[in-house]
Amino acid sequence: MAVLATCLGFPRIGRDRELKKALESYWSGRTTIDDLEHTARNLRRRHWTAMKDAGLDHIPSNDFSLYDHVLDTAVMLGVVPERFASISDPARRYFAMARGLQDADTGTDVAALEMTKWFDTNYHYLVPELAPHQTFALDPSRILREIDEARATGVDPRPVVLGPVSFLLLSKLAHDEDGRSTIDLLDDLVATYERLLGLLAAAGIGWVQLDEPCLVTDAADVHRAVYERALARLARLAVRPKVVLATYFADLAPESVPAGFEALHVDLVRAPEQLDRLIPALGDAVILSLGVVDGRNVWCTDLDRAHALVHRAIEHLGEARVWIGPSCSLLHSPVDLGRETKLDAELREWLAFAMEKLIEIRALATHAQSPHPTDVTFERARAAHASRRRSLRVTDAAVRARLAAVDKPMLHRASPFGLRAKEQRSRLGLPMLPTTTIGSFPQTSDVRGARAAWRSGKLGDEAYQSFLRDETQRCISRQEELDLDMLVHGEFERTDMVEHFGQLLAGFAFTELGWVQSYGSRCVKPPILFGDVSRPAPMTVAWSSYAQSLTKRIVKGMLTGPVTILQWSFVRDDQPRRDTAMQIALALRDEVADLEAAGIAAIQVDEPAIREGLPLRRRDREDYLRWAVEAFRLATSSVRDDTQIHTHMCYSEFGEIIDAIGDLDADVLSIETSRSRMELFVDFRRAGYPNEVGPGVYDIHSPRVPTTDEIYDLLKRAAAVLSVDRLWVNPDCGLKTRGWPEVQAALANMVEAAHRLRRDYTELRPA
Ligand code: GLN
Ligand code: ZN
Repeated sequence: MAVLATCLGFPRIGRDRELKKALESYWSGRTTIDDLEHTARNLRRRHWTAMKDAGLDHIPSNDFSLYDHVLDTAVMLGVVPERFASISDPARRYFAMARGLQDADTGTDVAALEMTKWFDTNYHYLVPELAPHQTFALDPSRILREIDEARATGVDPRPVVLGPVSFLLLSKLAHDEDGRSTIDLLDDLVATYERLLGLLAAAGIGWVQLDEPCLVTDAADVHRAVYERALARLARLAVRPKVVLATYFADLAPESVPAGFEALHVDLVRAPEQLDRLIPALGDAVILSLGVVDGRNVWCTDLDRAHALVHRAIEHLGEARVWIGPSCSLLHSPVDLGRETKLDAELREWLAFAMEKLIEIRALATHAQSPHPTDVTFERARAAHASRRRSLRVTDAAVRARLAAVDKPMLHRASPFGLRAKEQRSRLGLPMLPTTTIGSFPQTSDVRGARAAWRSGKLGDEAYQSFLRDETQRCISRQEELDLDMLVHGEFERTDMVEHFGQLLAGFAFTELGWVQSYGSRCVKPPILFGDVSRPAPMTVAWSSYAQSLTKRIVKGMLTGPVTILQWSFVRDDQPRRDTAMQIALALRDEVADLEAAGIAAIQVDEPAIREGLPLRRRDREDYLRWAVEAFRLATSSVRDDTQIHTHMCYSEFGEIIDAIGDLDADVLSIETSRSRMELFVDFRRAGYPNEVGPGVYDIHSPRVPTTDEIYDLLKRAAAVLSVDRLWVNPDCGLKTRGWPEVQAALANMVEAAHRLRRDYTELRPA
């Protein structure tokens, strides 16, 4: 028996983002559902063929999705909330669940399912909503159809199914019911999975991949007794395909290994140390699928290191019980390095995207038994790793020396917040309840058009710069007309808050087509952070100074924080993430100092991604939060007392990390609250959040213009919970996705609401 080469899932979006384009043209009404399905079928066929050509033994099906695989699972299980029931067309209903549906003609207005992050990745899934007495009804049409399609391509597939435990733990109850948990529905749901496995067996399927990523979270530990019973029931089923139970993103505790399945997949990239712990827990027949090729990053695998793990597993289990695979689905990886023409040769050889990872998996399986494989894939990997280790582009002695010299005082502002606040008050001269915005203003088609023209060479550097200056100037005047108290320059020169800084820092590279699905048709192209980070020259000082020169009001400097830059890049795997974050922090520290020296009195360092970096396992969280906080403080602590440091956070629930947010010691925090408004204020009060806060007073994700009354009420409630002297007034995120008319209307109402409350308080106060 040979060691098998397997794959857990392949990127769906297509090497040229074909799925994105097909979806968007279908949504806009330019094409039909048949056109969309046609593109989808072609993509699946291409991906199966690629895996077959790479020589994989187990090839996934049902890993494709038109929008999201959790949504597909909900539809397959009949978990469709009541509000979608009247939409009879299945495709319309599916996309209504994904994106909401507003149709003036029929008076339809249904909200989409909630969307949230898939574990600690940047992929977002749709949260299934379970009714209190949810029943399940199996619709196996899609999964069965794809099996036929795969076979027509010459592939006998291994269908991927999100398992019942994870499905429920990732779902929510539509109505909050005290004491009830989604997992209470497990017994009912397992009956539906029994039917599904029966159907797959009848279709002649040999192996199924049952994904149970939740088994590596602390949440699963709480429900262990319940899920053990349920999974054991599935395992005992008389007629079913063999099952490989797949976990990823963290380590599986030996006591959490479900009994009775034929194979177990574990993530040995994230948690290699679990191998030795798990081997004794496997009994004498279970196959171990080793996730040794990183499914979430872009580096070419250190095949010798992976091979050593494979070797160890074979020693204990024998080759018939060892498989090779990616750590998780390749969904989180770009598609094809072969199509990157602009990356230089040295950097290219260090990388592997999905297509190249298939080759690595095959090579590891083929040479599993060889003591020292010398085939070309191994040799190439050796050369790549040697070159990466030696490269002067990766290691910068000056950066390393500087990082080694970081000491405690560099992580602390000179004075405590109370003193700083006084100094800042007198320097900045702000009124009570100061109004401001988060940074970006509308990136109109004019702005995007000018950038595109400049990139393609149609617009010269000087013309483009002058266009940006005009935009900035207009933006400053508009903010003055709105009577905002603290202004921003508008960020017209930036495409993306991470890419912009990556392009100005040393240590980053950019791909042309390295897209990864974020949700639905939305993709991101993260920079590749390959080397020691430094700042060759000031990055934002010119724009901030220019904007400040246009007005007497204070203009905030605007930077992206170290953790967010780290989190939204493909980050190097040859040193701890902490070290990389601290290097970015040092570069930002220089920028902060230069801004201060240029007379910028307030500097905002955005950290929207700080929450999503939180490790899955609670025991790892403290360490992460410690260095995340240190990195922020290293970036910001050098300034004088009277320079005001702001930070901004969004996209998450912050209750859990509120103490760490306090530890950042930013003078002002603006934070998204649209998801949980009042609870967050209460959390802040309970945690005794010490500094100034600007809770987002309206949701910028919607084009709706909030009324003055609405904002006023919200501010009043916030002021009742937090101290009014420490309260700021701002929207809940940047405004770049909005149009000017709605932005002006919304901000005018926001300013008016702040003025009204300000008057209330001054009238109350004795003169
Ligand atoms: N300053 C950024 C902006 O306004 C912040 C964006 C974000 O929080 N994601 O666009
Ligand atoms: Zn934001």
